[in-house]
Amino acid sequence: MKNIIVIGGGPGGYVAAIRAAQLGAKVTLVEREHLGGTCLNIGCIPTKCLLHSAELMESIRKEGAMLGVEADNVRINFPQVMAHKNEISKKLTGGVAALLKMNKVTKVDGEAKFTAPGKISVKKPDGSVENMTADAIILATGSVNSTPPIPGLRENPNCIDSTGALSLEKLPKSMVVIGAGVIGLELACAYAAFGTKITVVEALDHMLPMLDGDLTKIGVAHMKKMGMEFNLECPVQSVENSPVGAKVVCRNKAGQTVSFEAEKVLVAVGRRANTASLDLEAGGIKNDRGRILVNDRMQTNVPGVYAIGDCVFGRAQLAHTASAMGEVAAENIMGMDVLYDESTNPTCVYIEPEAASVGLTEEQCKAKGLEYKVGRFPMSANGKALILNGGEGLVKIIAGKKYGEVLGMHIIGPRATDLIAEGALAIRLEATLDELISTIHSHPTVTETMREAALHAEKRAIHTKN
Ligand code: NAD
Repeated sequence: MKNIIVIGGGPGGYVAAIRAAQLGAKVTLVEREHLGGTCLNIGCIPTKCLLHSAELMESIRKEGAMLGVEADNVRINFPQVMAHKNEISKKLTGGVAALLKMNKVTKVDGEAKFTAPGKISVKKPDGSVENMTADAIILATGSVNSTPPIPGLRENPNCIDSTGALSLEKLPKSMVVIGAGVIGLELACAYAAFGTKITVVEALDHMLPMLDGDLTKIGVAHMKKMGMEFNLECPVQSVENSPVGAKVVCRNKAGQTVSFEAEKVLVAVGRRANTASLDLEAGGIKNDRGRILVNDRMQTNVPGVYAIGDCVFGRAQLAHTASAMGEVAAENIMGMDVLYDESTNPTCVYIEPEAASVGLTEEQCKAKGLEYKVGRFPMSANGKALILNGGEGLVKIIAGKKYGEVLGMHIIGPRATDLIAEGALAIRLEATLDELISTIHSHPTVTETMREAALHAEKRAIHTKN
């Protein structure tokens, strides 16, 4: 029987552990903090909880009267928002513990580090140290928020990261968000709906580069309507103390010094691999500033040592990416021959309205010199979308010009992050526009927009102009 040690119990590590156990391995999972990792405890799931409360608030406040739902005195009970979030995290992490037990994975509490290639030691909470080795080791230690070297930032207690923003006790009146990436904008949307005045400062001239430009335009217009203020090409220079909380000093596009004061400053400028405590050098593991180099089998340069998820170099830092890599690593260790294939990896951004994307964007098709055609369908022409959010949003499908094979799917609007699964599957199956069209989509659902976008690409849309 093969012995496998998995280091890290997030969506990469626990999935790898379960898959390896299914395939007959004896698995030990080492975790120093909580099962479920960033995703379940201080990332995806808590953020989505806050966003769901925010969405409900926005719906009642903005559409309630129109929909015939009148509620007096609707207000945010912020401690209850946080309590609900904690309850959901607890349920899910409890579920992970039960799944590991069911699969007979041994869990060891402690912090692992390499002592030599293929050998680790684990420091337990009682201070004892256990040396371990195995037939294979999977590194799945995830990532942590980066703190940029901005003068005055570290010293100011009102500068928080996403973990801080997910554990505030009091709703702040104002917040400056540094970085218009996914973390910054998702949390900004939640807090804006709760009533916090949001000011976003971003160094680049654009935001959310992973999304198709047409989608970003719709998202930004909505966020501006929510009262959020955006300052692009406005890199932060320093943070100063202020009686309000903190003052963020930036240089704007015109080269002038501008500043923004707020009760809290959310720093969301990216995440870095969480490998500092592993002692990669002792393990002989090749890395780029802590990010572990792997091939498509998830193998590092050291035989028998694999790495998956946010701690690896050059791949998307997403929970579902980590889980997919975890299965690939476990299967390769257990004698299968599997490659991690990123072509069906969707990106989901939980801004308002939510957005999702899979495959190639138009910009990427152009850069690759591909001949393609585009189909679009507005959410406003779909009955269900009209009911759900007033019809705000768009579906865009990109397909090969000659054969009509689906190359990319880009969606903003209600249920976008669920709808994208159809696009991912279409790419996986090398489906063509014809095949999407000949698949009957149920009515009334937002899924009809996918088929209509495919029809539009073939200049035969029924519910919009061709
Ligand atoms: P990011 O890299 O997406 O965005 C950070 C932004 O900060 C960039 O636009 C950058 O230009 C800007 N920035 C950097 N320094 C700055 C400065 N001094 N002044 C102003 N702006 C500055 O990083 P993130 O939003 O922190 O997310 C980290 C990772 O977590 C990403 O890889 C993301 O994919 C992942 N994540 C995904 C989801 C999701 O899939 N829904 C949610 C949260 C996080």
